Amino acid sequence: MALIPTAMDKTATRVVNDLYEAAERSRKNDRHYLGMSEIGTPCDRALWFGFRGFTPNPIEGRVIMLFRFGDRVEEDLIQWFEAAGYKVDQRQRVFEAHGGHFRGHWDGCIHGITQQPHVLECKSANKKKFEMFKAAGVRKIQPLYYCQCQSYMGYAGLERALVAIQCKDNSEIYLERLYFNRSDFEYLNQRANRIITANTLPGQSFGKDSFDCQWCRFRLQCWYPKEVIVSNQVCGTCYYFSFKGLKKYCRHPDHAFVIQQWGIGCPDWYDMFNKDPRKTRPERLPLEQLNEDH
Ligand code: SF4
Ligand code: SF4
Repeated sequence: MALIPTAMDKTATRVVNDLYEAAERSRKNDRHYLGMSEIGTPCDRALWFGFRGFTPNPIEGRVIMLFRFGDRVEEDLIQWFEAAGYKVDQRQRVFEAHGGHFRGHWDGCIHGITQQPHVLECKSANKKKFEMFKAAGVRKIQPLYYCQCQSYMGYAGLERALVAIQCKDNSEIYLERLYFNRSDFEYLNQRANRIITANTLPGQSFGKDSFDCQWCRFRLQCWYPKEVIVSNQVCGTCYYFSFKGLKKYCRHPDHAFVIQQWGIGCPDWYDMFNKDPRKTRPERLPLEQLNEDH
């Protein structure tokens, strides 16, 4: 439901709602990779849904705009670092692992904090969350950021990261330095591989009424799959799709092949969860029969 200030007349209200709806339409799940920014998500199943391209819960346009507002605050922070004399480079650098299916885009590498270069990760937070960061630190309050930084440090070969968080209410800045932890990095790296190559839906990590499930962006897909129409009808959401190692296969009996380009579908796409049991579908070719010749 859109927030409508009372002083707006009907025409202005209609235009505001047009803007919110435009923001809603701009949201899609067409990334086709597992992001390093999300590898600290506590539920494997949620990560798997995101990686495979399943439909997230609808979000209000106003909330999407709020996220974009946060992105701009983060961009500003980098400019303030540079204006203060710190050098931020490699801003376009992309990290990739597991056949390119695990990817991350860092904010940059910052120089001048100490002798060592640091991974730079800029974030924003509302006042309540900001105070929590100040009191308890990044790892405890937002493990996602901690895991993201561990991934970037590991793939970049750096030992330090600097997390900069700006309060959206009063522009106060909180900085925290993180140290590379090899065992955390290895765990996250292996977790990414396990989720990417999983051919079956991982189990539910929490109960339906838990805090995590209440706020999960795949709550509807997870608990009420019959009520969700998969909008992204591509190989990742298709019954005939499988990984074998890091190779991707279509197992449709009429046209089994090695999938080179991830993120495209075909007219034989079939709902993985077969929500309409009256419909029959040709059986998949056994995974063992698939090889390079397909
Ligand atoms: S709703 Fe809960 S169990 Fe389901 S994917 Fe999300 S966090 Fe995991
Ligand atoms: S049937 Fe089509 S959509 Fe499904 S895996 Fe094969 S090529 Fe992809």
